[in-house]
Amino acid sequence: MSDTCIFCKIVSKDTKATVVYQDEQVTAFRDLHPVAPTHILIVPNKHIESVGRLEVEDEQVIGHIFTVARKLAVDEGIAEGGYRMITNTGGDGGQTVFHLHVHLIGGQRMRHPMG
Ligand code: 5GP
Ligand code: ZN
Repeated sequence: MSDTCIFCKIVSKDTKATVVYQDEQVTAFRDLHPVAPTHILIVPNKHIESVGRLEVEDEQVIGHIFTVARKLAVDEGIAEGGYRMITNTGGDGGQTVFHLHVHLIGGQRMRHPMG
């Protein structure tokens, strides 16, 4: 847990967010500025700054994020239509919050070409 990290505060419920799923490893909540009808952020409960700081011991939680995403896609009704998952890393990657997260975005046809 980082004292200054907004996502750590959402995980610990010290800051409000619309949490749609939480277990002992991960928390999922709606993005404050959604870019599509479904826009959920899935984060490890443990503070990991970015993909650039991942350790081998984190592999399990990263895999878990993907199976939680699959479940949330079903819950959101976007599993059939399809969806996109994005993890921005570092400045050039467009990362603005430095607690690793996966964007789960769907409910419309994705428009933007990657890059
Ligand atoms: P990044 O740019 O790091 O990939 O994504 C950060 C995301 O976090 C952005 O989409 C932004 O809208 C979202 N965000 C930033 N601060 C908050 C917050 O306090 N609450 C929630 N729910 N989302 C946030
Ligand atoms: Zn954090």
